[in-house]
Amino acid sequence: MKLPEDFVNRVKEDDFLPDDLLTALETVSPVAVRLNPFKTKPELPFKSQLPWSENGWLLSERPKFTLDPLFHAGCYYPQEAGSQLLESVLKQLPLPASPVILDLCAAPGGKSTLIGSFLNNSGLLVSNEVIGARSKVLKENMTKWGIANSVVTNNDPADFRRLPGLFDCIVADAPCSGEGMFRKDHAAREEWSEANVQLCSARQKRILADVWDALKEGGFMIYSTCTFNEAENEDNVRWLARELGAEIVSIQLSQAREGRSGIGHYALPSDLDTEGFYIAVLQKITGVPSQKKDKKQSALQTVKDASQARTLADTEGMAVVQWSDFWFAVLEEYQPVISLIHQQLRVIKLGTEIGQPARKELIPNEALALSPFVRGKNVPHAALERDQALAYLRGDTFPLEGKQGFLLASYNQEPLGWIKHLGNRFNNLYPKDWRIRMDVRSAG
Ligand code: SAM
Repeated sequence: MKLPEDFVNRVKEDDFLPDDLLTALETVSPVAVRLNPFKTKPELPFKSQLPWSENGWLLSERPKFTLDPLFHAGCYYPQEAGSQLLESVLKQLPLPASPVILDLCAAPGGKSTLIGSFLNNSGLLVSNEVIGARSKVLKENMTKWGIANSVVTNNDPADFRRLPGLFDCIVADAPCSGEGMFRKDHAAREEWSEANVQLCSARQKRILADVWDALKEGGFMIYSTCTFNEAENEDNVRWLARELGAEIVSIQLSQAREGRSGIGHYALPSDLDTEGFYIAVLQKITGVPSQKKDKKQSALQTVKDASQARTLADTEGMAVVQWSDFWFAVLEEYQPVISLIHQQLRVIKLGTEIGQPARKELIPNEALALSPFVRGKNVPHAALERDQALAYLRGDTFPLEGKQGFLLASYNQEPLGWIKHLGNRFNNLYPKDWRIRMDVRSAG
């Protein structure tokens, strides 16, 4: 499909956008990934490291990620290179040593996995997605990324008003008209119209206004889109500064192009090996409304004797809490904050789900397998060859030697999930929703 005519005319009339942007949008998209610094480095066709992201790489071709077990183990995340500018932005902000960060529009999890790596096991990351089906994908990706300090919620931005001043930083990677995706995603071309740009711009303002109270005074709002027009980018940043009470923060991103009137920065596919991406930062200068007293009790209880969990999980420095019939490990330091979030929002991932205590033994959850808590715990592994690992990820079961009990199904020493070995056969405990549906035998 051709680029929308009105879009082409607008780019030509816009003094800010270079003319070769239109040609760049007709070329092949580069492929980039970001590695998980806490897991095994995969073998991929690496071409060059991204100058603005410690763990970001351009690849020389697009591998079939689905056929790489280490992709499912959360060892890396395919992420467009421009979006990875967020890392450089976060590193420049004077955030507290252990910040509490909200990623407001987080599915499928590209920015959230990046923020998780940036936090380096300190602070707390709340990743939110308003659309139910998308929030499940977010939960899956955050679970596979395997960081301990992650909570996932499924709420409307306005719900965060119940947590005034909680966050040191909010990342609002807003839904947009997607002009920056025109090369990769032809459906975005089809959906584009001037009217939709205006609609997106209004919705973005609403999202920013709705979440504003949740940001601390002096806290940072990182606003980003994957579009090129002023209405959704610089205009919204000016509006936010003026109407909500913030100062625009100057950031150094030498590789990216400064935005119109010097507001924010752009990754443009005509300048860099990226899709289109816009990013700007504001600092809140207004106060925060006081927290309303809420009589609702949190249903989270601290587990007094978590010894059943300790055979599989090394939860030193973590509190084990119970929610419904399940146990979760959360950073002790953040237990009160997590209880508050749990009380006020629809939480769908709460730290690391360890499992379900049962009469004889704990039934471990997949999140535990993918977390740091099984490392150094001498939990027995079922070391799988690549074909076996792919069969496991499909949900199959096959003959396998092994000790009876719960074993970590692993590939290249990276856990993928659990099996329950019964001596002569095993039960595959890989979650049904995560299973590979592609016929891996014929896919080569
Ligand atoms: N940050 C994500 C990442 O890096 O993987 C991409 C986010 S995408 C640009 C925008 C997200 O906003 C989508 O997941 C979409 O479902 C969500 N969204 C749509 N309408 C919304 C609304 N009214 N309020 C908040 N989020 C919304």
